[in-house]
Amino acid sequence: MGCVVCGGETKGSALLCEKCFGAIDDPLVLLPTALDPKSDQRMFQISSPCLRIGPVSSADVSYSKGPEPALRLREILASEDKSGLPLFVSGYLTGLGVGLYLRGDERLPRRGMIWSILQNAVESDFKTEQWAAASIRMGNVLALLVREVSRLPIEASAVLPFVQKYTEAVRTLYARSLPYPSLSDAAAINEILLDHWAGNSEKALSMIEDRIEGERSEAARAHLLIVKATMLVESGMQSQAVQVLESIPGKVRDERISRLKALIEVTR
Ligand SMILES: [Zn+2]
Repeated sequence: MGCVVCGGETKGSALLCEKCFGAIDDPLVLLPTALDPKSDQRMFQISSPCLRIGPVSSADVSYSKGPEPALRLREILASEDKSGLPLFVSGYLTGLGVGLYLRGDERLPRRGMIWSILQNAVESDFKTEQWAAASIRMGNVLALLVREVSRLPIEASAVLPFVQKYTEAVRTLYARSLPYPSLSDAAAINEILLDHWAGNSEKALSMIEDRIEGERSEAARAHLLIVKATMLVESGMQSQAVQVLESIPGKVRDERISRLKALIEVTR
């Protein structure tokens, strides 16, 4: 096959060669994006106080601690005291729909700023619960990236080291929640999905089954069952996935159930 970017020969059925994959500055371009990137741009402009006012020629206006995310990030990174980072990262990713519990159907808008946040923030280590929560959310974005890169037709020589590097990075981010019981459960369940996306589906399925066994809360159990059904669908076990979805009590409402059922309809 040939690389769609440089036209060079690729190994197997890969459509992107190792060199061109390595040249991507912001790998988040590979994620499925929010459906209408134009609407995201509009929303971003409308909710941006600075852009609403427009360009300012006067040098007297200083942008410091404002609500403008890009400027706020720059300001935090430039200052000595980076203690504003946990709240900023958590707030920004939550606003984009990245929850503490990884779902797999998240759609991020195309914003270069997300990758910029990850590059600047993942290494920081504050010993606070808020930072542990922000770290889970950053881990979730990278876990989605691991899944996408593993699935895309990119040369294996580029995919394997990438997946390995980011799987380890996600584990490190999730591990920050260990001292906080209210967060460590979410991180542990997310890590099972990560294992599945990184290629260890068998281990992931058995781990999720153990958790389902021991879970007494109906809502928490429903999330585990949906995660299990997601893994089954992605592993081509559609009939088992249907059984799992049908075992979820009707009063637990979650739009993922109908979405997975629709997906099973078209793929089996
Ligand atoms: Zn190429």
